[in-house]
Amino acid sequence: MLLEGNNKIIDESRQGEVLQPANHPVSATKKLYLESYGCSMNFSDSEIVASIMAGIGFGITKTTDDADVIFLNTCAIRDNAEQRIWARLRDFKTAKRKKPGLIVGVLGCMAERLKSDLLEKQKLVDLVVGPDSYRDLPNLVAAAEGGQKAVNVLLSREETYAEISPVRLGSNGISSFISITRGCDNMCSFCVVPFTRGRERSRDPQTIVEEARQLFESGYREVILLGQNVDSYLWCGGGPKKDLPEEIVHKAMNKLLPETEQEKFCTFADLLEQVAAVHPDLRVRFSTSNPRDMTDAVLHVMAKHDNICKSVHLPVQSGNSDLLEKMNRGYTREEYMHRIRRIREIMPDCGISTDIISGFCGETESAHQDTISLMQWAGYDFAYMFKYSERPGTLAARKYADDIPEEIKTRRLAEIISAQTLISHESNRQNVGKICRVLAEAVSKRSSEHLSGRNSQNKVVIFPKGNFKPGDYADVLIHSCTAATLLGNPVESSN
Ligand code: SAM
Repeated sequence: MLLEGNNKIIDESRQGEVLQPANHPVSATKKLYLESYGCSMNFSDSEIVASIMAGIGFGITKTTDDADVIFLNTCAIRDNAEQRIWARLRDFKTAKRKKPGLIVGVLGCMAERLKSDLLEKQKLVDLVVGPDSYRDLPNLVAAAEGGQKAVNVLLSREETYAEISPVRLGSNGISSFISITRGCDNMCSFCVVPFTRGRERSRDPQTIVEEARQLFESGYREVILLGQNVDSYLWCGGGPKKDLPEEIVHKAMNKLLPETEQEKFCTFADLLEQVAAVHPDLRVRFSTSNPRDMTDAVLHVMAKHDNICKSVHLPVQSGNSDLLEKMNRGYTREEYMHRIRRIREIMPDCGISTDIISGFCGETESAHQDTISLMQWAGYDFAYMFKYSERPGTLAARKYADDIPEEIKTRRLAEIISAQTLISHESNRQNVGKICRVLAEAVSKRSSEHLSGRNSQNKVVIFPKGNFKPGDYADVLIHSCTAATLLGNPVESSN
């Protein structure tokens, strides 16, 4: 679904975006052209890359023509994401011929997955760098400048880039991502992330709170805490969570340890409170939640703080328990429904969104209908919907046949999308006649006389600019809606 201004996990309109620094004058001798693909984590990583490259004299350029180095920060989550990158690399082959010395590098998840193909078989790139090796960029770029092929795809057990101050790219200056964990331990059978991003590690909470404070002081009014599975965040001095005994992790996450022991840990609920305390005018969002790890403690903290947005992105993937088991999601349909009920009990006004995969291995027609009935029951505000794409090396690729014909996957996905369009429209209609507080983010893409922002539930709201500007809060009375957007008028000048 195309939602103006929405912070999507994989936002089709942002794929291949050439990122530009926000309010960041660049005085640099060499130029880096950086295209980013995939999820928000990748866009956030590009800001770390820009920061490290600035340290060796590279400023950002918008065009490939004056670039000394071209980086593609890539995604491997589905096959079509990788095909896009191969096509882009073939374009750059011509650019390299025209400009000898031009360095082309592949960063991110595809680098991790296809290092030898990229360097040896296809010979399209000079530099291949995995998501945990960006600190090594100065050495790797120097090697590539000296004519060598440079590669570092080592996955780390500790790296969180905690103290690196990101160069804010492609930002509206109002809302910014902050990475709080890296990697993923969940091993969902369809997913390549644990292989491309390694073991889950949490970042030092002090550095997260400090980053949020600096953002607020430089005018930002919203932070989005990012991780593959934010609910799984647990800090106790660094390193992979898997190194801790399972029982201790369980007790620490549910605050069941004796006080003196519990104090050594910072859970996601604790972190949320600390970030919310930075300033009441700083909104806090987070993504992505995982139904198997989300605790009531997190929901109570959300309910307690006005500046924590009432919005949960809770990927379901399928509404059928057999399929969920094959996906290794760690919950059944009923357990997922219980989580949604708890969200609604604790925060009746909470927005809920999801991710759905259509056509996973062995999906029957009735399993597909289970997904649609769950969507209708949950009444999601919006959903990111994908066709299953088999990823080499994953548990599903090794264990199950990718046996749903392409035309059936396509038809089921279309049914899911049209069901969600109706559900989203109905969910939006419920806002008509009500007032919601909106953080204005930018001038609307469709009209310079209107501002676009989001309410607490993460719904996009468009309203006449009047005296408001991006960064202001406005109380808006909603008068109409589409399936993707709420339209309204400010009821008072507030800030
Ligand atoms: N960590 C989150 C989770 O699993 O709940 C989301 C991570 S992933 C970057 C975003 C979404 O991509 C997933 O929720 C899933 O719907 C989709 N996805 C992941 N692997 C896929 C695959 N092999 N085929 C199709 N969609 C996939």
